[in-house]
Amino acid sequence: MSLASCPDCGREVSTQARHCVHCGRPWPASRFGVLGAVVVALLAVAVMAGILFMARQRCAARARCEEERALQQFKSQPMSVPAESPKRDY
Ligand SMILES: [Zn+2]
Repeated sequence: MSLASCPDCGREVSTQARHCVHCGRPWPASRFGVLGAVVVALLAVAVMAGILFMARQRCAARARCEEERALQQFKSQPMSVPAESPKRDY
């Protein structure tokens, strides 16, 4: 818990107080309001972008996996017939 001087009355106010106990100035929300909102918005955008990126990566990876699995199934089905057939083992 630290103290900072109020820009309105100049007296020391706790930084955790919601308003200046001397003059009633909104505190310290008005001081960091815009910056805090920008930081929060940037963080939210970054988190959203990260989530979207991760989801897209996972989706792409899953799609690739399913594609490969389907390809392998497609390959293994016609190839397993001659491989298992005893005709080639003469
Ligand atoms: Zn004050």
